[in-house]
Amino acid sequence: MAWIGQNEVRLGFASEPEPALNGRRVYIARGKTLGGSSAVNAMIYMRGNPMDYDGWANEGAPGWSYQEILPYFIKSERNQRGDERFHGRSGPLSVQDGRYKHPLVDRFVEAGIQAGHKHNDDFNGASQLGVGRLQFTMRDGSRWSAADAYLHPARQRSNLHVLTGVLVTRVLLEGSHAVGVTVSRYGNEEENLGAECEVVLSAGAYNSPQILMLSGIGPAFDLKRFGIAPIVDLPVGENLQDHPFVCRSILRMSRHSSVPGQQRM
Ligand SMILES: Cc1cc2nc3c(=O)[nH]c(=O)nc-3n(C[C@H](O)[C@H](O)[C@H](O)COP(=O)(O)OP(=O)(O)OC[C@H]3O[C@@H](n4cnc5c(N)ncnc54)[C@H](O)[C@@H]3O)c2cc1C
Repeated sequence: MAWIGQNEVRLGFASEPEPALNGRRVYIARGKTLGGSSAVNAMIYMRGNPMDYDGWANEGAPGWSYQEILPYFIKSERNQRGDERFHGRSGPLSVQDGRYKHPLVDRFVEAGIQAGHKHNDDFNGASQLGVGRLQFTMRDGSRWSAADAYLHPARQRSNLHVLTGVLVTRVLLEGSHAVGVTVSRYGNEEENLGAECEVVLSAGAYNSPQILMLSGIGPAFDLKRFGIAPIVDLPVGENLQDHPFVCRSILRMSRHSSVPGQQRM
């Protein structure tokens, strides 16, 4: 993976040159501000597939089966509609139908149904199959990030200290036990922050493994190649799967949208 710069809210990475793309690199965006990527993402509310969770449980992750995590999805959610077996009404994460209703989306859904797909108006309900409109992590028509849902409401707590503009460079270890983190205030000297209780690392799918590896937790062979002394030999960072998107397939329509106030696509 390569580093191609950042702005105030985004970290910018790029993949290694991809053989299947004639050697081009794929841009990989990540959110940098409070709320992380949920502050820059497309806001589609889509849980994982139940079979994925059941697969994790079957492979030895107790408590992660779909039936076991469903109550937490429901508890987290404040959805304006949906079957109550699958949806919550009073959680911190606001979920809504999109207000922007472009008629082309309806035509697309109709075409899918004519092609034999089932209509589905809830991809987080009984089935993820079919065609239909999505729901979004929004409140009153605006983005509702993880920070809006969980962090900002807790900002007044006396036991919460939020540091911004700080880069975690590694996890501090005593033996193989995490006891804190080393941070750098962008350009300044590093300092160590000790943990009284535990360290929870949640720097995202790319940076969590990176920080672990910089700390000596990862595949020993790879760490040694970069001069990092392996402390815990684990397959960190392997089997990463992502869904890079193609931004260039934007269509220009010859007619204005029939919905008042909407712009030409
Ligand atoms: C452009 C885009 C569109 C997306 N669209 C959707 C969508 O529509 N629906 C959907 O469900 N998902 C979408 N996703 C994915 C979704 O946003 C992520 O899966 C989710 O936000 C991951 O949460 P996370 O907490 O694991 O990591 P992140 O949200 O990435 O949070 C990690 C945080 O750690 C910080 N961090 C990283 N390294 C360090 C370090 N060394 N020191 C200090 N801080 C660090 C980052 O700045 C960030 O704030 C999208 C993602 C992107 C980038």
